[in-house]
Amino acid sequence: MHMHVGQNIPGYLPESDLFCTDDRDSAIGYLRHELKSLQSEYYETCDGDPSEAYCACEWCDVAGDVEAALSHIADGDTLYRLKSGNGVLFIIRPPEGADTAHWIAFAEGEQSSCELNED
Ligand SMILES: [Zn+2]
Ligand SMILES: [Zn+2]
Repeated sequence: MHMHVGQNIPGYLPESDLFCTDDRDSAIGYLRHELKSLQSEYYETCDGDPSEAYCACEWCDVAGDVEAALSHIADGDTLYRLKSGNGVLFIIRPPEGADTAHWIAFAEGEQSSCELNED
């Protein structure tokens, strides 16, 4: 068994960018990195006043949803799920455009024999 980390960002093919690893920490690190960059995109899309300490716009709201996913990772809940043989799936619903999903899923076989490594 090994893991695939992926995301369906609108405009990209769903299978185009899977990260294949047999290391839980690498899988989580990759997922965290992807969520962080999504979150910064949302904060950059915010059209609120940056001098305000708190913004309640829809983009900051959805950035908060990403924060919840990041907390799941930071608290060790994601690692716990992987250790118990379950994948994780975070679905983020931005105010405009398609939903994006980020996940870690278990894949059959060893990483060395995975078709993603055949090139
Ligand atoms: Zn694989
Ligand atoms: Zn905002």
